[in-house]
Amino acid sequence: MDYRFLPKKGLSLFVDGLLKDFKVYGPVKMDGFPVYEEVSSAKELLLMHSPSHITPKKYLFPQRETLLRFKTGEKPQVEHAADADNQVLFGIHPCDIHAIRLLDRVFAYGTPDVNYLRRREKTIIIGTECLPDKFCFCRSVNTMTAANDFDLFIHDIGAGFLVKIGTEKGKELLFRHVKTRKATIKEISKLVEFHKKKESMFTASINAEPSTLPLIYSGSYDSPVWEEIGKICYGCGSCNLVCPTCYCFDVRDDISLNMKDGERYRVWDGCLLEDFAKVAGGHNFRKTRGERLRHRFNRKFQFQVDKFGGLFCVGCGRCSRACLVNINIVEITNKLIEERETGKKE
Ligand code: SF4
Ligand code: SF4
Repeated sequence: MDYRFLPKKGLSLFVDGLLKDFKVYGPVKMDGFPVYEEVSSAKELLLMHSPSHITPKKYLFPQRETLLRFKTGEKPQVEHAADADNQVLFGIHPCDIHAIRLLDRVFAYGTPDVNYLRRREKTIIIGTECLPDKFCFCRSVNTMTAANDFDLFIHDIGAGFLVKIGTEKGKELLFRHVKTRKATIKEISKLVEFHKKKESMFTASINAEPSTLPLIYSGSYDSPVWEEIGKICYGCGSCNLVCPTCYCFDVRDDISLNMKDGERYRVWDGCLLEDFAKVAGGHNFRKTRGERLRHRFNRKFQFQVDKFGGLFCVGCGRCSRACLVNINIVEITNKLIEERETGKKE
């Protein structure tokens, strides 16, 4: 992989250059918390920040999105809406880079999702490093670093920035806007040192190899854990909302009062919400909150693995961070591991 050195002052020049052709979204501070927002200069960007509550997924798969517009009447018309701007997602952490890789697979699977894929095609991903808080566990699911799936990856090494080139597109943008030079071995080793430091900082950890988790989950269907956490869960769906790999949505029609036109749109949905698995006739396939939690956890660690070639949890810790009743995905997983190892289900 090609590494370049970008002097400190080069970053604002680079972002100014990007702003000429792209909308740029990155982490900024809002009410004391990092939030991904549109930026108009490099000064606004947080380069080393704690995990954001809401994920940058919203720029590829918006919370609400028009799919088509239609007109009724003698000559009905349907217009497919797949609007997409050229955009740069700046400051994307390794876990979210892995999550985007998974979403790319999901939305290309079967009938390709034109809206997502068009937006993705027009998106440049620029990664940055991060430090874990008490909820992060990316180290346990092999997503602590990102080797590819970004266009550029920028890491502050004090005197300037180490820039990893991920794609030709990223390289072309970098070279077009700023002067860089080949990074020295010493500069590259700063990233290795950073990773060692980062690795030693995790307090949350899953007590099993990631490759064993599908098996552990497949044997956990009857665990009392589900009923236990089902009793305290509010069914609020916050865990779905903040997850970078949750991609379920509902499709609805919105028709004007005069019935002459309208639009079909999709909105994020969540499997923890009561109506998610309710079907015509009122039957609910996952009536209890315990069943819904079991389903969600299994989607992350078992069901999706064969289909999409990897765990569907990237260890960002957002669901645990957002949960009002402290249901913690690492603690639950470790409980299931313990049940499997000891054979005891308490
Ligand atoms: S399940 Fe939780 S920890 Fe895993 S990716 Fe989703 S929000 Fe992050
Ligand atoms: S965030 Fe917590 S309380 Fe809300 S649905 Fe998820 S697990 Fe239940």
